[in-house]
Amino acid sequence: MADFAQNNGVKIWLRTTVSSLSVKEKYLEALLKTEEGPQRVYAQVSVIATGVKYNLQTALGLGRPRKIIKGIQVEIKTNDLERLKIYWGSRFSTGFFGWAIPLLDGRTRVGVMTEGNAVNGLKNTLSEVSDYSNTCSELSRAKRRGIAFGTIRRSYSDRIIVIGEAAGQIKTTTGGGIYYGLLSAEIASETIKKAFRIGNFEAKTLSEYEKKWKKTLGSEITFGEYFHKLYSKLSDKSLDALFDAAKKDGLLSYIAKSGKFDWHKNAVRKIIRSPNLRRVLWNEFIG
Ligand SMILES: Cc1cc2nc3c(=O)[nH]c(=O)nc-3n(C[C@H](O)[C@H](O)[C@H](O)COP(=O)(O)OP(=O)(O)OC[C@H]3O[C@@H](n4cnc5c(N)ncnc54)[C@H](O)[C@@H]3O)c2cc1C
Repeated sequence: MADFAQNNGVKIWLRTTVSSLSVKEKYLEALLKTEEGPQRVYAQVSVIATGVKYNLQTALGLGRPRKIIKGIQVEIKTNDLERLKIYWGSRFSTGFFGWAIPLLDGRTRVGVMTEGNAVNGLKNTLSEVSDYSNTCSELSRAKRRGIAFGTIRRSYSDRIIVIGEAAGQIKTTTGGGIYYGLLSAEIASETIKKAFRIGNFEAKTLSEYEKKWKKTLGSEITFGEYFHKLYSKLSDKSLDALFDAAKKDGLLSYIAKSGKFDWHKNAVRKIIRSPNLRRVLWNEFIG
């Protein structure tokens, strides 16, 4: 992609940070911090795709996600696991879960997404994955990063479009953002092409982007937030009861058969509507 872009006249600055964006009437000015020193760049339109960094969006009054969840992951050498495993409960995570993903070449990715203590969560997850004794040295290699939870207030403005995690386009059920980011990038490129065609980069023109991505992803993100609100209040005991109820209701086999990897709204809806699961929730919150 980079080669294709460069062959079509794109200039790529590596090891460069955009420190500010100022929107003028006829153009936009970006201040860059490069290895050779500061530089100014002028453009018709700018796409903010800075991941879990929100200084540019905040300065432009576009807001930031409701919260940032802690993410931590390490790659270990083990063949002990054949299938993906998810770890639920307070030993592993507050509000979310831990995971172990075998890459089937002797490596396994072990990680945790949590609102609590990420290192403890990872330590406990590692100890479950196999009889893994070298937990301390693994922890020192672990990569940590925030994960956006919830969208920013507005993902466009005059001459500006925000995409990916920078806009909070993240699955609120699992923290995954690659698929949503790619979908939104496609919508953004259509909107920007249109803006060039009509020669208008005002917020009104670029608002089409937000209308379209929200139509596709908005309710998925909201359902996930709703589910997280319920789920994060459950005790470990209720969580176990919830899984038992899901087994009885056939919900687990429904998810295994019909659940979609990137679309979770229908599964969340089904969980919330299931009578056995409702009973567990009722006992937790009212009973
Ligand atoms: C432990 C962990 C595991 C995950 N696993 C998965 C998974 O299995 N599946 C999945 O879909 N998602 C996963 N995610 C989430 C996924 O990594 C993100 O959703 C995705 O990377 C977001 O893509 P992005 O392009 O929006 O931002 P990023 O990939 O974060 O890219 C943003 C880039 O912008 C650069 N940048 C930042 N600020 C500036 C600036 N001011 N000027 C210039 N450049 C700047 C950054 O250096 C970075 O290179 C995981 C996240 C974590 C933390």
